[in-house]
Amino acid sequence: LPELPEIETIASGLARCLPGLSVRSAILRRDDILRRGSLKAKVLEGWLVSSVERVGKNIAIRFGSGYALVVNLGMTGRLIYKPFSAKDPRFPRSHMHAVLHLSDDSELRYYDARRFGFMYITQGGDIATELGVGKDPFEITSKELAEILASRNATVKSILLNQSVIAGLGNIYVDETLFGARIHPLTGSSEAGKYASLILSSARRILKRAIKARGTTIRDYRSIDGSSGTFQRSLKVYGRQGKECERCGSNIVKINVAGRGTHFCPNCQPLLRG
Ligand SMILES: [Zn+2]
Repeated sequence: LPELPEIETIASGLARCLPGLSVRSAILRRDDILRRGSLKAKVLEGWLVSSVERVGKNIAIRFGSGYALVVNLGMTGRLIYKPFSAKDPRFPRSHMHAVLHLSDDSELRYYDARRFGFMYITQGGDIATELGVGKDPFEITSKELAEILASRNATVKSILLNQSVIAGLGNIYVDETLFGARIHPLTGSSEAGKYASLILSSARRILKRAIKARGTTIRDYRSIDGSSGTFQRSLKVYGRQGKECERCGSNIVKINVAGRGTHFCPNCQPLLRG
């Protein structure tokens, strides 16, 4: 699933292309992509894009009207931006559920094979609150993270995955963050709270490197020009079960935590008990 670095790559890419363009037409090929209660897509027509930003793992395209189009890519969603409406065979119309035609003849297309993604048009304002997402690792302080972890009764992994608590991290970057901080994923959150600054600095370091690499492509993620990210080459534990830990040579292990496949080095990440 796309996580913070992938969404940041998409949002910053769109932020370089879309502002200053207006929407010539907005076409939904499937109505169920639009969240219940949203304004209809037609309302976008004539509106000028003012900015594009990432909110947690979501993309917000803001308009001069004050409204915003919020897009969540779910598992397999892609936003592809084509400067010219060329008939590129890499981008067939199957699984294309929405398209914005823009004032310079470019197109922003939304593809989603499995359709777990959604979009909606909102009056703008505080989109993070609307979506119920917490601060992301670049916004939260280690004191705030320490308080959150200390007050919860769950594994550190499940807390870091919870978007309402801390936004932007998913299965890949939580596993990488905990490896970087040398913390076992089954560590209780209150015990892990003592290491909040270590966890946060590990998360920030990994996310920054992953943004530079334009994200991680395991299967579906593509940036707005359709290209893959390259951070999958730099993963230390995710998807590396049975392979040697680059730090100590032990075998990376995969277990199930909070219903998610979880990868770690049992030697570098010993289980801490409070
Ligand atoms: Zn190790």
